[in-house]
Amino acid sequence: MNVILFGPPAAGKGTQAKRLVESRHMVQLSTGDMLRAAIASGSELGQRVAGIMQRGELVSDDIVVELIESRLPEADAAGGAIFDGFPRTLAQAEALDAMLKGRGSQIDRVLRLKVDDAALMQRVAGRFAESGRPDDNPESFKVRLAAYNTQTAPLLPYYERQGKLVELDGMGSIDEVAAAIDKALDGK
Ligand code: AMP
Repeated sequence: MNVILFGPPAAGKGTQAKRLVESRHMVQLSTGDMLRAAIASGSELGQRVAGIMQRGELVSDDIVVELIESRLPEADAAGGAIFDGFPRTLAQAEALDAMLKGRGSQIDRVLRLKVDDAALMQRVAGRFAESGRPDDNPESFKVRLAAYNTQTAPLLPYYERQGKLVELDGMGSIDEVAAAIDKALDGK
C-alpha cells in the first residue's frame, strides 16, 4: 500500500510517518529528510538547496522527483511507502503517478491532516528555539506555510477526483491522530 501524508508544515506528518514505519513496516520517503541529509553530507546537491530550504521556499521539482525515484525500489521491497512532504506541486504529483504506474503500482490513499493556520502558528511558536532546523523560525515558517497554501493545497482536488482523499482532524493528540489514520487505512 502506498500512502501520502498530506498537510502543512508542522502538521505532524513526520511523527505519524515514523509510527507507520514501526507498525506496518512501510518505508518513509521524506524529501525534506533526504534534502537535509544532502546538506549534512556537504554534497553538491546539498550546497545547491541549502539557501532555498533555509528561506522556506520549494526546491525544484526535478530534484525531488529524482530523489524519490531512486528510493522507490526500497518501497517495493517493503510492500509500500509513506510519502511525507512529497508531492508538493501538481508536476510532482503527476510525476509520482507516472513513476508508480511504470512499476505496476499506484497511490492508494491520501491522508490529509487538517489543521488551522492560526493554531499551527501558535503550536510551533514555542518550538522554534529548540528545533535546530534553520527553517524553523517565524520568517521561514511563514514562507513554508504560504508555499503550502499556494502550491501544495491545490493538489487536494487532484486526489479528490481520483477518489483517494481522506480528510482527518490533525489538531488532536498524537495518539488521536494515529487512531484516525489507522481507521482510514484499515477501513474500519
Ligand atoms: P519538510 O521537512 O518536508 O518540511 O521540507 C523542508 C524543506 O525542504 C521545504 O521547506 C522545501 O524547501 C524542501 N522540500 C522538501 N520536500 C520538497 C518537495 N517535495 N518539493 C519541493 N521542496 C521540498
